Amino acid sequence: MTTHLEQAYALDAADPLARFRARFVNAEPDLIYLDGNSLGRLPHDSAMLAHDLTARQWGERLIRSWNEGWFTLPERVGGKLAQLLGAQTDEVIVADSTSVNLFKLAVAALRHQRGRTRILTDDLNFPSDVYILQGIVEMLDAGHRLEIIRSEDGVHGPVEALLAALDEDVALVVLSHTVFKSGYLYDMAAVTAAIHAAGALVLWDLSHSVGSAPVELNAADADLAIGCTYKYVNGGPGAPAFLYVRRDLQPLLRNPISGWMGQHNPFDFTLEYAAELGLRHFLTGTPAVLSLALIEPGVDLLLEASMNALRAKSIRQSEYLIALWEEMLAPLGYMLKSPRQAEQRGSHISLGHAEGWRINQALIRDLNVLPDFRAPDNIRLGIAPIYTTFTDVYTAAEQMRRAVEERIYARYSDQRAAVT
Ligand SMILES: *Cc1c(COP(=O)(O)O)cnc(C)c1O
Repeated sequence: MTTHLEQAYALDAADPLARFRARFVNAEPDLIYLDGNSLGRLPHDSAMLAHDLTARQWGERLIRSWNEGWFTLPERVGGKLAQLLGAQTDEVIVADSTSVNLFKLAVAALRHQRGRTRILTDDLNFPSDVYILQGIVEMLDAGHRLEIIRSEDGVHGPVEALLAALDEDVALVVLSHTVFKSGYLYDMAAVTAAIHAAGALVLWDLSHSVGSAPVELNAADADLAIGCTYKYVNGGPGAPAFLYVRRDLQPLLRNPISGWMGQHNPFDFTLEYAAELGLRHFLTGTPAVLSLALIEPGVDLLLEASMNALRAKSIRQSEYLIALWEEMLAPLGYMLKSPRQAEQRGSHISLGHAEGWRINQALIRDLNVLPDFRAPDNIRLGIAPIYTTFTDVYTAAEQMRRAVEERIYARYSDQRAAVT
């Protein structure tokens, strides 16, 4: 009889992407890291590039480096990200944070949709996205209403209710393509088509999709999108975000934060703002060059592995985890808080448990497993197919079993930490 562990080793031995794990820093070989959906691992190439960026590009070349590659980094890295997103090279650019990019694109969209007052989102969206939209409604003071459509089970996107809410007064719909708690994955093409049929624009937040699930912005005819680079793209903590504007919309939308980097010729230093053509117009101030440059090696690794192969592995690993959950964890009170259907799921699995917080503490402090925790009771297991192994997945399930069966969680109190 083969044991679970032998089965996991066999799955790793047959994994065509297994070689990519060695391309990342793995300082603690025994650590089971399942938080790549919050902060991806450090690629070795990024560590080397960080040294070159500081010692040579900054240290030696000084200001000359702006003309030796820094100035065009936003569109160069954006153009590579576009390949992961099914978009054209000139439709994606890197700037600011995801939250700020949402602000810029949502204000631009609402101004373009003058006369329409309703903004729709769902209650599975990332809170910062909802806060930004609330702030915009207040700032524009133009009678907009933000409506948050409720998911019935807190797991699946409220697609039917959302489509039923569409009418000729809806200006903009803002959704997370992969939702951050349950991992529910919207059908981008179908939902975008329905939104367009009502004459509204759609803005997709791709933070949990990029690098983990295939995204086809052009094929879906998506209008606008934003997303993070520090999760599955492995760009580094606080790395700048990207924004996408479909090519035909670019001349019609105006960046509400009109800074000199989006000016037609920033080095003319004229006092009259004239928008740069194309997507550079959506830049605002000087980019964080070091962080921005360090995104590129992570994108290169994903392109080398290919999104189709990454998606195939992500599905194999999440199906494997769900099978282990059914066999080992469901009898111990763990609940599946992610969709059961692979095509409705991104790359993380949430398991709820009445003692979720304390179990999570035991996993981190005693059992060498690093997932993350999302209130009220979700233990979120992020599968980053470019470096997660089947052995990682099995070991995490085994330690979750021990945490409950051996009552290891009972050592911890219910006191919550600031960053979870
Ligand atoms: C992580 C995440 C963000 C983060 O936004 P920041 O501006 O980088 O803090 C935004 N939206 C979603 C859906 C996310 O998952």
